[in-house]
Amino acid sequence: MAKILMIGGGVSGLSAGIYAQLNGHHAIVCEKHFVAGGNLTGWDRGEYHMDNCIHWLTGTNPATTTYKMWEELGALGDVEVFQGESLYTCECNGTTLSLYKDLYRIEQEMLELSPKDKKEIQSLIRAIEIVQGICGIAGEKHSEKLTAKGTIFGIPALMKYYALTTGELAARFSHPLLRSFISAFWGDDFGSLALLMVFAHFCGENGGIPKGGSCAMAERMSERLKSLGGELLLQKEAVKINHENGRAESVTFADGTTIDADYVILTADPAVVFKKMLDIPMPKQLKKQYQNSRLRRFSSYQCAFACDLAELPFQGDFIFEVPVKYRSMLHMNQVIVREFSHEPSFAPEGKNILQTLTFCYEEDAVKFIEFRNQDKQAYKKKKQEIADLLMHLLVEKFPQLQGKLTCVDVWTPATYQRYTDSEMGSYMSFALPSKVLPTRASNRVQGLSNVFLATQWQQIPGGLPVAAEGGKMAIETIQKEIKVKANKSKYKKILLTSR
Ligand SMILES: Cc1cc2nc3c(=O)[nH]c(=O)nc-3n(C[C@H](O)[C@H](O)[C@H](O)COP(=O)(O)OP(=O)(O)OC[C@H]3O[C@@H](n4cnc5c(N)ncnc54)[C@H](O)[C@@H]3O)c2cc1C
Repeated sequence: MAKILMIGGGVSGLSAGIYAQLNGHHAIVCEKHFVAGGNLTGWDRGEYHMDNCIHWLTGTNPATTTYKMWEELGALGDVEVFQGESLYTCECNGTTLSLYKDLYRIEQEMLELSPKDKKEIQSLIRAIEIVQGICGIAGEKHSEKLTAKGTIFGIPALMKYYALTTGELAARFSHPLLRSFISAFWGDDFGSLALLMVFAHFCGENGGIPKGGSCAMAERMSERLKSLGGELLLQKEAVKINHENGRAESVTFADGTTIDADYVILTADPAVVFKKMLDIPMPKQLKKQYQNSRLRRFSSYQCAFACDLAELPFQGDFIFEVPVKYRSMLHMNQVIVREFSHEPSFAPEGKNILQTLTFCYEEDAVKFIEFRNQDKQAYKKKKQEIADLLMHLLVEKFPQLQGKLTCVDVWTPATYQRYTDSEMGSYMSFALPSKVLPTRASNRVQGLSNVFLATQWQQIPGGLPVAAEGGKMAIETIQKEIKVKANKSKYKKILLTSR
């Protein structure tokens, strides 16, 4: 039995801890915050609950291997999984279109809106079906998998999307609403393959939200770790990995304590870990990713509004265009507003909680962080201005919200940076650009034989399943190491006894 220390108690760290316990080791998960979960979190403001994370959780379809992983991790427990009729609704000049869970309803509505775009629409739907087939979530029951031959035949239809950004794909449609629908969620710069994946999983009943949302899922995973005998140490911030002769010996924490370990798994943002905790360089493959100007990181700022209205004018996530005169202030053309009527406990009876989310790229994220560091009062004022403007935009869009909204919280990339110690408040690895395939960088750290990485940053793009798989894979690598070591000592013994 090995003593394995996880640095970071987000999904990657909890996953590594749980798999370590399942493989007979002793896991100690060290989290700097007072609660585990990392970005998978939520919090209360008065009688309202803010949900920070899950819009869709890939792996809620029981036919998938990711579902089995979530089950092993205790992430789903025995709670219901909610999958709304649509993931998001997009509006343009008063007309709306939704990403429904029924793919053929989307196709039909797109065709009705713009018969001229028939060729592009059918090509998109066909590509989504192929992705579903590759992922084993195709067919009426969303459980069919393409054969190897079917996959090979399907790949040429995906090449177009591999080569296009969402902006370029949107430009191939003539109808303005179809154009916004394609680039609405992330803007124009993502690779279209990412878009296909989101459509395929959501329409393949593989993108639901476990009841209770993000916070409840993090709590279930923490409980799973503890119930298996693992330790979860909170407010335990690692500051230094102590190593000698190519092996980590122990980890020193901000509270002055040191814990020794057989293996160390690093799960926090490597951009920070290799600057602050380790005096050896970041693995080359990973460094290349951080240095690649096409691999952009992103964050967002969000405002939560208590809403004194029982019946809302929209469902799920609603995306709308920011009027041109406000774009320079918000630094984005679209705003997403989310409602949580599927979670009655998130707001008092007869009321609702609404959250706006505005994405920002690296430059803007860094500005938020610098701004807060330089002048906390000015930063506070800026947050208030943003909240006022967003409230104004919401009321302009839905006049029935007039006088019904009260801002209860605003959080920005600076909040994410402080909370999870990611370099620029980014929280979902790199955005997948066009002409890049999702690949995973090695989890090994050159020069240290018993230190491994389990972070979403190894893969493009990230997300909860990527984080959880990273934890699982780090333990698989350790298992292999242990086996190799055991075999070596067995052969050594045989050699010695045969002499
Ligand atoms: C607004 C938002 C929406 C999202 N929506 C989705 C979605 O719908 N679907 C999806 O799949 N994903 C979504 N994500 C992304 C998802 O939350 C992340 O991919 C995932 O949580 C990453 O987990 P992680 O454990 O790798 O990293 P993190 O969550 O960053 O966890 C790292 C942990 O390490 C801790 N830590 C850092 N430094 C130290 C230290 N020195 N010592 C000890 N602990 C340390 C941090 O406090 C943190 O808890 C969303 C994220 C956000 C913020």
